[in-house]
Amino acid sequence: MVKLLKERRDEAARCSKCSICKIVLPVDVKSAQFSRVCPSGTRFRFDSYFASGKMEIARAIADGDLDYTDRLLHILYSCTGCGACNSQCYYVKGLKPLEIFEELKAKLVEDGFGPLPEHKNFASSVEQKHNAYNEPHNERLQWLKDKSVIGKQSDIGYYIGCTASYRTIDSVEAVANILNKLNVDFTVLADEWCCGSPLFRTGQRDLALKVMEHNLKEIENLGVKKLLFSCAGCIRTFKEDYEKYGGKYSFEPLHAVEFLAEIIDSIKLKEVNETVTYHDPCHLGRHLGVYDAPRKILSSIPGVKLVEMERIKEFSWCCGAGAGVKAALPDFALWSARERVEEAIATGATKLISCCPFCKRNLQDAIKKYDLPIEMVDLFEYIENLIE
Ligand code: SF4
Ligand code: SF4
Repeated sequence: MVKLLKERRDEAARCSKCSICKIVLPVDVKSAQFSRVCPSGTRFRFDSYFASGKMEIARAIADGDLDYTDRLLHILYSCTGCGACNSQCYYVKGLKPLEIFEELKAKLVEDGFGPLPEHKNFASSVEQKHNAYNEPHNERLQWLKDKSVIGKQSDIGYYIGCTASYRTIDSVEAVANILNKLNVDFTVLADEWCCGSPLFRTGQRDLALKVMEHNLKEIENLGVKKLLFSCAGCIRTFKEDYEKYGGKYSFEPLHAVEFLAEIIDSIKLKEVNETVTYHDPCHLGRHLGVYDAPRKILSSIPGVKLVEMERIKEFSWCCGAGAGVKAALPDFALWSARERVEEAIATGATKLISCCPFCKRNLQDAIKKYDLPIEMVDLFEYIENLIE
């Protein structure tokens, strides 16, 4: 597997150090205050923390020119996997730096040097309890009121994910309640395991492939045609990683915002007079290109004024939690989240809305910790309360 880093060595060597991956150009974002785009490089300031520096690290490791050190681990694992460098670099240079950094992490793991201790802990939890939070596996569906949907045959499945199952139960209940209110027949897996996202993102691929095989077998047994997700990280893992690593499936993965956007015009919603702004989760936005569906839903609510932050869509600033950063570097995760929340406050909105449990958790943690004047709201909880 690590031979992949060798195969991508020449791409890493083609980095011209143009620094386009560091900042959004004035033509795309007007204010200098919100023009930064790489959380890792912006926070730690050395070039090695930006994509440009890590491209040189990748080249050097592929050529055997660089020793492993603790600083190297910190550099590679402070990358949130946001993909902003991919967006910036691809248009200008045709390179996707983040894909190379994921090979780099996998090589560190294969060589026995990575990942960080916290990442090994969540891998051990996934192996033993099938979730990344070391919670009892048999409590994964405790939140679900109607247990009759578990494991039944249906055209529509709902893959829940670890964070929603154990940490943001309100948002997962909201999705189930919306489906019920709309009379959508759906099923959930009787034995759902972690999707493997935190493992793929930290280079722990062997275990990630095991969970992939398990989940795909379980889902295919349910006969679903569409599989809904409310976690951006989970759907990206299915659509990108499962396909990249040979996972075969016959259903269509669909984020619940895409499903809802298709039918939103036929749903009667209560009027609510307020100004809201929307945060694009990196895994759903930049990685999968789902930008319009959540905006269509929010714009459909009578009385709601959607105002945009400076950095949106492919230029969004990451919530800061991804790729194992929340677990291993929690202060840095909150530092990134604070910047995003301050950007949201600058719009004049009273609510910051998103549709990823991981983003919700980290942005909400920053709001609490720094006592910031805005409310973090999950899009599904918001809509659930407005359906008449
Ligand atoms: S990674 Fe891409 S955008 Fe960044 S310095 Fe290298 S070539 Fe330029
Ligand atoms: S993925 Fe994001 S955090 Fe990582 S190097 Fe690229 S822009 Fe920086």
